[in-house]
Amino acid sequence: MFRTILSVLALLLVACAPDQTSTVIAIHPSAVSKAADIIQAVEDLNTAIGAEVFTVIQLEGYELIEGAAVVRLVERLAGDETVAGRTFHRAHSLDIVIEPETKPRIIAHELCHAAGLEHVEDDSNLMFYAPLRVALAATQREYLLGLVP
Ligand SMILES: [Zn+2]
Repeated sequence: MFRTILSVLALLLVACAPDQTSTVIAIHPSAVSKAADIIQAVEDLNTAIGAEVFTVIQLEGYELIEGAAVVRLVERLAGDETVAGRTFHRAHSLDIVIEPETKPRIIAHELCHAAGLEHVEDDSNLMFYAPLRVALAATQREYLLGLVP
């Protein structure tokens, strides 16, 4: 089922100009072992927003990267030991890097960075630097809803 949705989305993605935000989440071949957690993160986020804002696709290679935030898996992220995910804004793509142990709520946090949300000080919010739950403020939900074409 995943693959059939993919080919349709592939055509849509080619038509989209690359920008600095994305709610289309592409699972890079390196992150297939984390697919269940990534899908869980997307489902939790959509539930928190109250709409199907984020979409997941699976990449077979590099040809579909434009227009999507690409989730890659690495053994270990450099830097702070508490960091388990990081989002990079590149010239033609948004890359999210996660580790094998990264929890769905951290993935959800990174997906929101990819969608353009910044950190907040509220430790009950998903965009707290070390989030404990997938909870969004009304202004964040409104922003994310506004990204849906
Ligand atoms: Zn962050």
